[in-house]
Amino acid sequence: MKIVLATHNKNKIKEIENVLSDMLGGVKILTASEIGITEDIQENGTSFEENALIKARAVWKEGIFAIADDSGLCVNALGGRPGIFSARYAGEPCDNEKNNDKLLSELDGKDDRTASFICAIACKLPNGKEFTVRGTANGVILKEKEGTGGFGYDPLFYYPPLGKTFAELTTEEKYKVSHRGNALRTLKEKLSYFLT
Ligand code: IMP
Repeated sequence: MKIVLATHNKNKIKEIENVLSDMLGGVKILTASEIGITEDIQENGTSFEENALIKARAVWKEGIFAIADDSGLCVNALGGRPGIFSARYAGEPCDNEKNNDKLLSELDGKDDRTASFICAIACKLPNGKEFTVRGTANGVILKEKEGTGGFGYDPLFYYPPLGKTFAELTTEEKYKVSHRGNALRTLKEKLSYFLT
């Protein structure tokens, strides 16, 4: 069986590969570009799940197992924004610094700074069946950045159970509690029904 990941992001490929190779030693995992899809897939859905499904469908063919994810930050005082537009929040091209500055200025003077990272993973199985799973991580947006690790909104995302921002966690620590880690753990559980 061929598994195709609809992403060009090396970190995501590594994380998803770790979960799958653990379960399915010996299966071949290919990226979108390795099957000849090099252009960016148009993500024009209205939810994380829809966007993940659009990407999984774009790389799927009969007999292929396609997996894709979509994630972002939903801030309660902003009605869930930036949500599916997290990467492009401050406009194109994507710029983490500008996105974080825009978030701080939009939250200026707001009492409620609670937010959730959300990650949806979509699978389209070799027989054409589809499903999605979702992982979340709940935190608070700080007034100033803390930490130098991670990416995106990590320096502003304070995770109360660990008393640190995501940017102050190691990759392993973040994976244990993150939206992507939670979604991948649910995916693993769900896949064991389909693949055993
Ligand atoms: P993607 O769909 O996983 O590429 O994520 C879209 C955007 O959401 C990223 O460009 C980041 O701005 C934000 N994002 C998603 N996951 C994370 C995370 O784990 N930390 C920080 N920002 C994230």
